[in-house]
Amino acid sequence: MNPADRLAGQSRLPNVKTTIFAVMSQMAARHGAINLSQGFPDFECPARLRQLAAEAMAAGHNQYAPMPGLPALRERIAEKVGDMYGAGVDMDTEITVTSGATEALFVAIQTVVRPGDEVIVFDPAYDSYQPAVELAGGRCVHLPLGAPDYAIDFDALADAVGPNTRLVIVNSPHNPSGSALSPADLERLEQVLARSDAFVLSDEVYEHIVFDGLAHQSLLRSESLRARSFVVSSFGKTYHTTGWKVGYCIAPPTMTSEFRKIHQYVTFSISTPMQHAIAQFMADPSFHLELPDFYQAKRDHFRGALDDTAWDLMPCRGTYFQLLGYRRIGNLPDVEMAEWLTREVGVACIPVSVFNADGNDESILRFCFAKGDRTLDAAAEKLRAVGKELHPPDRTCR
Ligand code: GLN
Repeated sequence: MNPADRLAGQSRLPNVKTTIFAVMSQMAARHGAINLSQGFPDFECPARLRQLAAEAMAAGHNQYAPMPGLPALRERIAEKVGDMYGAGVDMDTEITVTSGATEALFVAIQTVVRPGDEVIVFDPAYDSYQPAVELAGGRCVHLPLGAPDYAIDFDALADAVGPNTRLVIVNSPHNPSGSALSPADLERLEQVLARSDAFVLSDEVYEHIVFDGLAHQSLLRSESLRARSFVVSSFGKTYHTTGWKVGYCIAPPTMTSEFRKIHQYVTFSISTPMQHAIAQFMADPSFHLELPDFYQAKRDHFRGALDDTAWDLMPCRGTYFQLLGYRRIGNLPDVEMAEWLTREVGVACIPVSVFNADGNDESILRFCFAKGDRTLDAAAEKLRAVGKELHPPDRTCR
């Protein structure tokens, strides 16, 4: 057998398949379904931002950017977190620009996790965490967040944190559930971790998509949490530019310097013209300050269109995802229900069980509402027929 033929049997990630986001987006395309599965806007990013990117290219900003990120962009990020979270962050020693949040999450995990270490993750969990932990030789300890509130059980966390706990990964606002940490949650997290040496990785990519007047509880608000945290965000979510793949990681100087040792050999640096464009666009904070209202209107539009149906609307405090329960509609496993909806109803979504390490299935699906109103209306019209004219097959008859 040649080495290539042997490789599947020697996989570094034997349990990993193609991500559900790619699978469902491909399935939506194949069946011509409205794609509310993978999280990305179907509308344009701001015209001025596109113009700034074009101008940056025309002005010759087309060679490598500095490894930690363009100084102008790091300066804007430091200003923003100062204004929003009262955090005094040093742009030279604490901020690194990354290839989306995905690179920041991966590098932060490689920076601290060693073979045999335990990493606490809360399920349902974003799918990139566990493979990165496994590649570092660590082991995930999964704690459940229960429907419908998906709040952290801090007593369970306190019981789970032990001498082998190297890292705790939190995500607020939370994908897929739309839950968000409260000020009391931050205090509880501080208390639980006070006796531990664990680091924290805080995935805050939806920091500017928080609803109902709530303030985003960045871990940067807490001095004691900040001192042990990698705080990660993404311009993809904030500026409707998921395809640009620009994000960043904020961490104390010693953590940042270790983080950069790995970052420099993963990507070295991030697209120069995009960094120029974002830095200039950020000089005016109005876009991200208006984002909560923009997405809250979409959330309310989508929810309003599904009121008085058999779908169970779960709470949504942030992100651009709405969970819908279907216990009153049918009893298919959620993966089959998502496939049936894509194929027969024409709306693609994400089954929540795939975010649970134990596959726990509570008959809940995730729908992305980062879409134009016409797309949302067309999807809602199809979904309204489910449980009325359209019924999923019965699991017991299969
Ligand atoms: N974060 C996006 C989601 O939750 C998808 C990102 C991806 O496709 N890797 O849908």
